[in-house]
Amino acid sequence: PTELEDLVELFDVSPTDTPTPDDEREAALASPRFGTVFTDHMARITWRKDTGWVDRRIEKYGPLQLDPATAVLHYAQEIFEGMKAYRHADGSVWTFRPDANAARFARSAHRLALPALSVDDFVGSIAALVRTDLAWVPGGEDSSLYLRPFMFASEPFLGVRPANEAEYLCIASPVGPYFAGGVKPVSIWVSQDYHRAAPGGTGDAKCGGNYAASLLPQTEAQENGCDQVCFLDSTTNTFLEELGGMNLFVVKADGTVHTPELTGSILEGITRSSILRLVADRGHDVVERRIPLAEVVDGLADGSITEIFACGTAAVVTPIGRLAGGTFDHQVGGGEPGELTMAIRSELTDIQYGRATDRHGWMRRL
Ligand code: PMP
Repeated sequence: PTELEDLVELFDVSPTDTPTPDDEREAALASPRFGTVFTDHMARITWRKDTGWVDRRIEKYGPLQLDPATAVLHYAQEIFEGMKAYRHADGSVWTFRPDANAARFARSAHRLALPALSVDDFVGSIAALVRTDLAWVPGGEDSSLYLRPFMFASEPFLGVRPANEAEYLCIASPVGPYFAGGVKPVSIWVSQDYHRAAPGGTGDAKCGGNYAASLLPQTEAQENGCDQVCFLDSTTNTFLEELGGMNLFVVKADGTVHTPELTGSILEGITRSSILRLVADRGHDVVERRIPLAEVVDGLADGSITEIFACGTAAVVTPIGRLAGGTFDHQVGGGEPGELTMAIRSELTDIQYGRATDRHGWMRRL
């Protein structure tokens, strides 16, 4: 692999002339509210069909000026990623499996007919941005710098075809502990009325449109007294797929661990694939398969299912304490976080924060 140093050097850094004052930044880092505060800079690369990717740069964070005809505003040709930079006890800053995010970004780009950004440019942009805004990486427990790489069709053109111009940017936002005051199980509403994705659709791409479509079902979940929505497969309305922004795991009393297999309509989570490894390392039988909702409802009723958890970059591992839908409403594990759920959560965060050996080589120093 190319040295990170060489990748970072491709970026032209224009430091802001109005950096956030130290006391303001420290105040923001002390109690960050997710997605509201951003660092002083952003990474940016421009693509045109005739030039390819050009103008790798780190510039002042700020508004974009867009022509009202910009393609993304009309046809949602847009993709994004979500990952974090973690500060370790010795002050060094690391990311978790950035190559996996880069690879997923490339797959999403392909599905949305956007240009491919190389792994080198993806990782280089993140390293260049984090190094420029290093003081913005929080050091507090379970705090991190959330990184949001994204790409959109920037060509001002109303024809429905792949745009000939695109912009790639990465912005960064400090985040505190997802569960301030301790990990608390969430409740899940299984939607019978809406689906997130269909075979041949964009479910396995991380495109903005998927999230726009999840907002109404998420509102429905809340109207039914639940925190999050869970989607079923759209072909048979039978099998569990995932939540609006997290993958799902089911733990049985016999020690087996189950997760919906990747059918093309599920987003392949990097947390999911890491947990599959960690659970297998512990000696559990791990099964990726289609999981009928009926099996889970019955398993909760008869006690053969002991834990359900969700996973993703933002909350890492989230215990599920209740599963409800039109015709059922069950507690999971007495509403308390499960043992394996919490063990996996600790194991993963210990690796990410440098408290445990990174035996799989997942961490990359920035
Ligand atoms: N599913 C969906 C729909 C998501 O948006 C996310 C968050 N990227 C995930 C699963 C979890 O993916 P990851 O573990 O890579 O954050």
